Amino acid sequence: QAAALLDRRQRHFARPQKNYYREPPQIERGWKEHLFDVEGRAYLDMVNNVTIVGHGHPRLSAAVGRQWSLLNTNSRFHYAAVAEFSERLTALAPEGLDTVFLVNSGSEANDLAIRLAWAYSGARNLLSLLEAYHGWTVASDAVSTSIADNPQALTTRPEWVQPVVSPNTYRGPYRGESSAGDYVGAVAAKLEELDEKGGGLAGFICETVYGNAGGIPLPPGYLEAVYQMVRARGGVCIADEVQVGYGRLGHYFWGFEEQGVVPDIITVAKGMGNGHPLGAVITRREIAEALEKEGYFFSSAGGSPVSSVVGLTVLDILHDEALQENARTVGDHLKERLQALGQRFPIVGAVHGMGLYLGVEFVRDRGTLEPATEETAAICDRLLDLGVIMQPTGDHLNVLKIKPPLCLSRESADFFADMLAKVLEEGW
Ligand code: PMP
Repeated sequence: QAAALLDRRQRHFARPQKNYYREPPQIERGWKEHLFDVEGRAYLDMVNNVTIVGHGHPRLSAAVGRQWSLLNTNSRFHYAAVAEFSERLTALAPEGLDTVFLVNSGSEANDLAIRLAWAYSGARNLLSLLEAYHGWTVASDAVSTSIADNPQALTTRPEWVQPVVSPNTYRGPYRGESSAGDYVGAVAAKLEELDEKGGGLAGFICETVYGNAGGIPLPPGYLEAVYQMVRARGGVCIADEVQVGYGRLGHYFWGFEEQGVVPDIITVAKGMGNGHPLGAVITRREIAEALEKEGYFFSSAGGSPVSSVVGLTVLDILHDEALQENARTVGDHLKERLQALGQRFPIVGAVHGMGLYLGVEFVRDRGTLEPATEETAAICDRLLDLGVIMQPTGDHLNVLKIKPPLCLSRESADFFADMLAKVLEEGW
């Protein structure tokens, strides 16, 4: 049945929009951190960075059903939910970031953030980290330098994109937590080069915990120093919180809190809609209003009545079920269990991340850090046999992308660690 449906999909659905797995199970329903296929088989969903309050949440379906039957329409009408949701979002943001745009995805949020940086600064150049992923629209794609996600990234980048070396403390050119100075130096050198050319600086965009490389925190002090240099040149600092934000880190609601900085623009999506298309840009009023020089902003469905109610209900559930707290306690426990695997299996090079935003990096040699790419793919396939959904991430596709729903139970975390141990015992 699953194979026949896959055949139908291949015939009319665009092939570049890929599935997880070459032969994926056909899933039919979900409950909390579990998915069930058409044959009733259960899978533990450890990769879902979208469904943060869990699958099939009854409170969310009731709220959406109610709002759909009352009203859903173009976002240019005046209705209650958008005002309420904007109020709630800004209350979660640092002081001064008091203005919200509502869109439908992370790509759109980053695209808009880039346009705001251009409009506000009057300049064009934008710094972005190598190996980053920020989306698939034209501007967000341009600043996405990850060759794993975008093989053309290194050849088709427009002139305004100014890539800087990614502060990957595990695998980058400078190693260890004390490497902040070296990475800041690399940004300073790039900025001096731009100063000499006289092109000005619109801003800097980065994920505040380095997701695409597997959830590696930035070296301490990195963002403070970089933000200072960017702002000294009139640029704005954009924090891409699409994956890391909204409580996933457990210890922090936003990733930038880990670095002790406040950005000028926050972009959010994914979890905020729990799978419903919803994204936001949160910024200062003066930055938002710079867009008026170019006309106005418009998104037909961004912040629609249904989207806004989804957003409000997700926030209510996060709060009422203390899901950030759960991400912290279950995430800390899971990280310890994964680190213990590192003592037993040399293929485990490192365990990155915090909360329920973790990455297990597999290497062939802990000295050379040669990525264990094929091994990682095989480990993910074996995990599927054992009922665990898991995928590789990173430019070398050698890192397990551990981003489960934030309602993950301790038992499920243990099940995942047990199954991973079982696979590694089989011979890696
Ligand atoms: N930024 C980051 C950090 C992301 O991980 C993603 C999605 N993987 C995006 C932006 C783009 O979000 P969307 O797929 O909703 O357009």
